[in-house]
Amino acid sequence: MKILILNEAKRSSMLGHVERRCAATPATVGKFSRIGITIYVERDAGLLSHYTDSEYEAAGATVVALSDEIVGEVDVLACVNSPDEKTISMLSASTIVIGHLDPFFQPSMINKLAASNLTALSVEMIPRSSRAQKMDALSSQASLAGYVMVMKAANYLPSILPMMMTPSGTIKPAKVFVIGAGVAGLQAIATAKRLGANVLAYDTRPVVAEQVESLGGKFLKVDIGETGQTKDGYAKELTDEQKRTLAEAQKEAIATSDIVITTAQLFGRKPPVLISKETLSLMKPGSVVVDMAALSGGNVEGSEPGKIAVIEQVTVIGSGNWSEEVSRAATDMYANNIFNLLDEFISGEPLHFELSFDDEILASSVITHDGKITNETLIKAYESA
Ligand code: NAD
Repeated sequence: MKILILNEAKRSSMLGHVERRCAATPATVGKFSRIGITIYVERDAGLLSHYTDSEYEAAGATVVALSDEIVGEVDVLACVNSPDEKTISMLSASTIVIGHLDPFFQPSMINKLAASNLTALSVEMIPRSSRAQKMDALSSQASLAGYVMVMKAANYLPSILPMMMTPSGTIKPAKVFVIGAGVAGLQAIATAKRLGANVLAYDTRPVVAEQVESLGGKFLKVDIGETGQTKDGYAKELTDEQKRTLAEAQKEAIATSDIVITTAQLFGRKPPVLISKETLSLMKPGSVVVDMAALSGGNVEGSEPGKIAVIEQVTVIGSGNWSEEVSRAATDMYANNIFNLLDEFISGEPLHFELSFDDEILASSVITHDGKITNETLIKAYESA
């Protein structure tokens, strides 16, 4: 059995954004090698996560330049993102392609994978179950994002997060308001608390209030009626009336905060806009807002995807690709997710990937197979688009 790891920095740089993560580390290459799997790593694949070709080789990988012959003989192509079209065209039918394939927003890419007879496994579609936790790339990357967003905000804030009492005066602790207390939001709360800030948080799913409080944060209570969550634990979209009530209720919390971090997402849809320019104008000049969703539409009106903007004298950070800022940690976690995923399903003699649609993880995450799109949620989303 053969797995190929791409150098995604090389490809993504052509598109403007340079991917710094990689789908394998020398440690995961070592684990694959020990169970008898051949790993090809494209030259310099780990360079931006600070892993060298010689470390991959020492762990058992063969470092290669891509050729039709090598790409055509692999059973699995493991990526961080989607592979580029040229690489797809070199793969043999039925190769398994794994990555953040962004299926709801990249229908033409997914159709291309299906038309090329490839088996595509989208890590975003891995269910949020206990069994799947070790392969849950959304969670691993969101945890790091939560940490990175606080560190970025702290760097731009013209003050400090902890209280400081000195003979020269007392600085009050910064007020941090986190909107959306999922995986990233909870990590942001924990990080801001560790740095000494006063933390307030809000989420439309009231079940998370207890988790916020267990991290030392306060939960903002707003009565907007029934909100609930999907069977997978994701937030449901609010009505226009609920959105208005919420925006009004959050105005004061935002206006009195030094840092606001927005992490509100709706699975498979554009994120909701939560902060208007008018609300930004209520904040103290120099305050900082971090818009986690900036690259996918934005929680903050006017935030610029991939950039840091000043709006109404507030610094609005929309840089995105948060986990990449700590590329080695992000690669370590993602590579473990990929190893755990493959290790769960590779077995037999000779070794092979056991593809069973009776398995709940594969039923949900395998989105193309045998020339077709196989995921019902996705088929419905494409039909209604
Ligand atoms: P997410 O990225 O989809 O959204 C982030 C948060 O934003 C969510 O908590 C959501 O409720 C909230 N949100 C959405 N709209 C909002 C609004 N208008 N205002 C305020 N908040 C809003 O969420 P996620 O971090 O991917 O987590 C989704 C779910 O999956 C959660 O229930 C989480 O606990 C669960 N989860 C389970 C596992 C597991 O069991 N293995 C692992 C990870 C996550």
